[in-house]
Amino acid sequence: MHELAITESIVESVTQRLPDARVVCVRLAIGRLSGVSVPSVEFCFGPATEDTGLAGARLVVDEPAGRMRCRACAAEFASDDLFAVCDCGSMDVDVIAGQELLIRAVEVRGHV
Ligand SMILES: [Zn+2]
Repeated sequence: MHELAITESIVESVTQRLPDARVVCVRLAIGRLSGVSVPSVEFCFGPATEDTGLAGARLVVDEPAGRMRCRACAAEFASDDLFAVCDCGSMDVDVIAGQELLIRAVEVRGHV
């Protein structure tokens, strides 16, 4: 399962950066064109954080919409479909947003 590996690598990068922290909230950006299933990541997050500093942390996921720029006419338009066609008829488009998979913020509980 693809999303489990993704979730585990997110958990791993947080614990590497903040080895002794008690993380209370993790905010992710998972673009709608990233091909990553947000419900699956949410489902995997609990098990993946067990016995780590992220155990019990809240997961917040932003889902940036897809945005394309046409190479033929330079128009920009929104699309949540990778199979995007510009109004001018061209399919030669660059994805400029919506493919991101990022950790946007990590909230840590202060020292006890
Ligand atoms: Zn165009």
